[in-house]
Amino acid sequence: MNNTRIKKVVIAGGGTAGWMAAALISKSLGRGVELTLVESDAIPTVGVGEATIPPIINFHKVLDLGEKEFLSRVNGTFKLGISFEGWHDLGKDYVHSFGFAGKSNWAAEFHHFWVGAKKRGIDVSQYGDYCAEHLAARMKKFAVVPKNGVNYAYHLDAGLYAKFLREVSEKYGAVRKEGTIAKVNLDQDDGSIKSILLESGETVEGDLFVDCTGFRALLIGEALGTGYDDWSHWLPCNSAVAAQTELTAPPLPYTRSIARPFGWQWRIPLQNRAGNGLVFSSDYLSDEDAKTFLAENVDGKLLTDPRVIKFTTGSRKVHWKKNCVAIGLSSGFLEPLESTSIHLIQRSITRLVQLFPSNGIKQSQVDEFNQQCRDEIESIRDFIILHYHVTDRDDSDFWRYCRTMDVPDSLSHRIKLFKETGKIFKKDLDLFAEESWVQVMMGQGLMPDAYHPVVDTMADDSLGEFLKDTLMSTKQKVERLPEHHEFIEYYCKSTVV
Ligand SMILES: Cc1cc2nc3c(=O)[nH]c(=O)nc-3n(C[C@H](O)[C@H](O)[C@H](O)COP(=O)(O)OP(=O)(O)OC[C@H]3O[C@@H](n4cnc5c(N)ncnc54)[C@H](O)[C@@H]3O)c2cc1C
Repeated sequence: MNNTRIKKVVIAGGGTAGWMAAALISKSLGRGVELTLVESDAIPTVGVGEATIPPIINFHKVLDLGEKEFLSRVNGTFKLGISFEGWHDLGKDYVHSFGFAGKSNWAAEFHHFWVGAKKRGIDVSQYGDYCAEHLAARMKKFAVVPKNGVNYAYHLDAGLYAKFLREVSEKYGAVRKEGTIAKVNLDQDDGSIKSILLESGETVEGDLFVDCTGFRALLIGEALGTGYDDWSHWLPCNSAVAAQTELTAPPLPYTRSIARPFGWQWRIPLQNRAGNGLVFSSDYLSDEDAKTFLAENVDGKLLTDPRVIKFTTGSRKVHWKKNCVAIGLSSGFLEPLESTSIHLIQRSITRLVQLFPSNGIKQSQVDEFNQQCRDEIESIRDFIILHYHVTDRDDSDFWRYCRTMDVPDSLSHRIKLFKETGKIFKKDLDLFAEESWVQVMMGQGLMPDAYHPVVDTMADDSLGEFLKDTLMSTKQKVERLPEHHEFIEYYCKSTVV
């Protein structure tokens, strides 16, 4: 396709996506490339995106970031999962934790034993009680324990995180250029990007451009005209209103997601404040009413005025076109219900570094990149739709739409297979493991009709003992942990003044 050696990489945009990309590319490719990041002081970042999932720990390991320093610089707290409140039905809550319940057998996962015991009338505790992360979340306990510890992720301040990654990137050789992009210049012959023109009149040339300009998608969308697949018919929320509040209690070790009649509300606790937001559909709630609703339904004093953010859920038709790779909000957006956007940034940069076109861009690389991005985002899309669709809520037009809407065939199949057999299978590029699907399906009220026959090789006594032992060892593991806020105080107290 193009044999130009890729020497100059230009990242447009300096939000979470831009600086994550700059950090990983500069650390991994070092002197092999000249890396410039262009960002505008006049155009703010989206300013949200504060809950993460466990793979971010690996990203930081690759960057050689110390966990304590990172957390103290971003006012970070620990996250063991998400508490879904009122999603199954009003008054019914569950936790999607980062852990695995009990012990699985090669043929059947732990939930088959739990479902089997329940169906056979054996006394069982609630499913989450067999999972250390779930129990620790409910008991507000946490510690980083090197061996046999708990799986976790972080809550972080998005602005401070970008600042921190900027330092990391500059240490590894990335160069920041301040300026507002006025025009994207295309090559007359092949339509690829030649340079970007800044309002100052300066031109920034490059061989490869990474579009991190957020929802504006100046390069991949505006300049290269790459289309967008709109998934709003499956995920009808298209707006959010966000505000920060004071903490009213020590930070919880989990994100809260509270279902509301027209969407849902998040609460993300940091060391010094909480991030709050209402994700909603403008078909069912106006922006003004959303601001009022949020202001009236947060704990603690508002520190910022509620501000509205508009979005369209969906994906760019391709994330890599010609010599431009879209990363972050420019590449698409899935609403933040499962905190997957920062993870998708991490995956796309990792993939770009793995497929880095040093000796020129080959169509096979581009196709592989695009196919992997597509498979991954579609599987996350299905997982998010599941939360809305499998519900008993019938108390508003919004929920009645969600529970009766058509869903993608790939999701219908998963729901049917689980209902009929209790089985879930993870595909290659699925982000969420079987256990996540099980926790959410059962949490949303979808119980399997059947369980694996291997369970019936155990007599009632042995099955009961097995579950009792699992419960006991889970409790013992969690009881040893300190309170989450005590651990933060000792391990990574904020250094931000
Ligand atoms: C309501 C909401 C809640 C979210 N919550 C979560 C969450 O909990 N967890 C999660 O993982 N993700 C979440 N996300 C997603 C997350 O916020 C983003 O994935 C992440 O912040 C990356 O954004 P970005 O860097 O792509 O874009 P932005 O932050 O918008 O950055 C865009 C950059 O481009 C620059 N730019 C734009 N135009 C120009 C121009 N003309 N010239 C020069 N520079 C320009 C801007 O200055 C800025 O630096 C959420 C998103 C929304 C909308």
